[in-house]
Amino acid sequence: MDGPIRIVSNRLPVTLQRVSGVLERKRSSGGLVSALEPVLTRRGGRWIGWPGLKLQPGESLSDADDPFEIVPVELSTNEVNRYYHGFSNATLWPLFHCFPSHARFEHRDWQVYDQVNARFAERAAEDTHDQEVIWIHDYQLTTAPLHLRRRVPEARIAFFLHIPFPPHDVFRMLPWNRDVLHGLLAADLIGFHVRGYAQNFLDCVQRVLSARVDLRSGLIEHGDRTVQVAAFPIGIDYQGFEQRATNTPSDSELRRQRIVLGVDRLDYTKGIPHRLRAFERLLELHPEHREDVVLLQVAVPSRDQVAEYQELKREIDELVGRINGRFATATWSPIRYLYRSVSQSRLSALYRDADVALVTPIRDGMNLVAKEYVASQVGDPGVLVLSQLAGASETMREAVIVNPLDRDGTAESIHRALTMEEPERRSRMVALQRREREHNVDQWVEGFLTAARTAAVKLAPVTDGDFEAWLGGFVADHRLALFLDYDGTLTPLRRHPSEAVLGPSMRAAVEACAAREDTDVTLISGRALSDIEKLVPVPGVTFAGNHGLEILGPDLAPFRHDDVAYYVGRLEKLAPRLEQVCIEGAWVEEKGASLTVHYREADEAQHEQFAQEIRALIQRAGFQARNAHCAVEARPPIGWDKGHAVLHILRARYGPAWSESVRTVYAGDDHTDEDAFRVLRGLGITFRIGPLDEQTSALRRLPNVDGVQALLEWLARRP
Ligand code: UDP
Repeated sequence: MDGPIRIVSNRLPVTLQRVSGVLERKRSSGGLVSALEPVLTRRGGRWIGWPGLKLQPGESLSDADDPFEIVPVELSTNEVNRYYHGFSNATLWPLFHCFPSHARFEHRDWQVYDQVNARFAERAAEDTHDQEVIWIHDYQLTTAPLHLRRRVPEARIAFFLHIPFPPHDVFRMLPWNRDVLHGLLAADLIGFHVRGYAQNFLDCVQRVLSARVDLRSGLIEHGDRTVQVAAFPIGIDYQGFEQRATNTPSDSELRRQRIVLGVDRLDYTKGIPHRLRAFERLLELHPEHREDVVLLQVAVPSRDQVAEYQELKREIDELVGRINGRFATATWSPIRYLYRSVSQSRLSALYRDADVALVTPIRDGMNLVAKEYVASQVGDPGVLVLSQLAGASETMREAVIVNPLDRDGTAESIHRALTMEEPERRSRMVALQRREREHNVDQWVEGFLTAARTAAVKLAPVTDGDFEAWLGGFVADHRLALFLDYDGTLTPLRRHPSEAVLGPSMRAAVEACAAREDTDVTLISGRALSDIEKLVPVPGVTFAGNHGLEILGPDLAPFRHDDVAYYVGRLEKLAPRLEQVCIEGAWVEEKGASLTVHYREADEAQHEQFAQEIRALIQRAGFQARNAHCAVEARPPIGWDKGHAVLHILRARYGPAWSESVRTVYAGDDHTDEDAFRVLRGLGITFRIGPLDEQTSALRRLPNVDGVQALLEWLARRP
């Protein structure tokens, strides 16, 4: 159970600095590092991340005494700008915190981000062991799971997002929203701080990818895999804060005043200007606090090369100046503003001595300051004023909860906190402390890793109830035109097309649909017409072969695209040329009006390069090269595809106003079916079969051939 693990995060647990040309190595600070380090030390493993600077030749990050391996991912200056400052901090950070107006959308940033994610995955994939959990952290690495899955298909991959996940209305603004979802869904477990973010994620997966999702149990159907989504609220090193608070002496000068404390990175999500204005309002509404209370605001410099952050700093400087100018007396200033970081021990003393902690972000994944303040209340208990917009407010309900955008309400809450009697303060603080002591960061790590090692329960297969909900109203009392692809839809994909034989139960389901008076079934395949006819010997069915270049069916004039004859001869000449370059395991299937080069059985390492070469040859011969599952097809450049074929059949059979008289349902599993999905968008109900990796225009997903069979059986039985 306690096997080695791999941590993949943007930064490493050690920070490198070059001081006068010499490389210096420091332990990185922060709760996550101190939580994960002991786990990795105990179990062994690796930590993969960016060291923060470029190593010179001969320099090494590792130390002989390291209890686990530290693997650096080096980044160029351009990569740091595009991947880190760009897509991570200027696109995903604002968007995921619901500040779309602060987000920039640059295609080049996205490309570099994805490339860098691939590099992290490459390093993470080196010498993996069975059962080793690979734990990827945070918004800088959302596509790393997919790159890793491609390299190590059997890996146990877990991902945790340390920031919020936005609602669909905001998430869909991201031009690369599907890619981010595809990236994340390659993980087996995806963790969020709170249930709300997990629900947002499930909702986005359902709506953006048409996936089947169980909102209650947090399961996502991803072909034959199931992805588990859950909330794991992070905790802190409770004992560490408690001990420091007990052992650090007080700053006697500060103790003379009552302190309201704010501690934040200087970030627009933290709501510092709103907080300053609320404090100003407090002094207006309750003058008794003047000359008695001080707001001590620590703002830790952050991302200060970004224009937005510089502007925010100016705004805060001005506000502090204005409010102090307005209320200060000769012996008292209402706001003390520290624009710097403070040491751990000083921070602990500040937490302990503050009468009120003002934790009022406008949006925050969790907020650790709220928890650290609670752990540090070792003397006379203070009061935590907490924003309802921070993840922490989901559990820390004994805090005084405020909406930081409500200035008067926040001012009144600060007043309430400053005047709260000791018994109420104590009972609130005791409850807050009990929870944080118990749900500390070690417990968080253990809980997450246990879930990561446990395979997700499979999502229950689609039921009649699902089909009833999706199709019941649509097909009721109507004629049904049912289009079915063959390979990957009615039979699982096999190594060789000749092995893909229709199973008896699937055949019975197709027959039952075709036997209905009110249902017309069309088999639409990339195979040759004669081939598909033989494979599905069901009476009354229409066949469309070669992606619809040839069509044969009851009540239809036989169709063969006019230009096919011209291209057949050219394809016959192309085939031997392609055969000549085939690597071992690859072969050419001649289908008359088109041909396919299959390479499923060839060495996987050669797939990409071989496919590229074949595509180039096909294009040079004047044909369209289309990708299929481990195959490249050469098709006549006629501008005819499964979409055209579907429309041709519908018009020929039911007339130009076909959509008035017939309901269309289409199920298919590959790229070539996308043409049909597109033309049927808004007109029919379409199902893409298989995992969610591939983008689709289909309305819904079915995981596999069994799902299709369930669909056909329901259609055959429908009233
Ligand atoms: N912190 C720090 N130095 C300081 C002030 C604060 O390292 O001078 C730490 C603080 O102890 C807390 C973290 O910064 O652990 C802030 O975490 P939080 O979740 O509140 O916000 P984030 O910065 O992650 O958005």
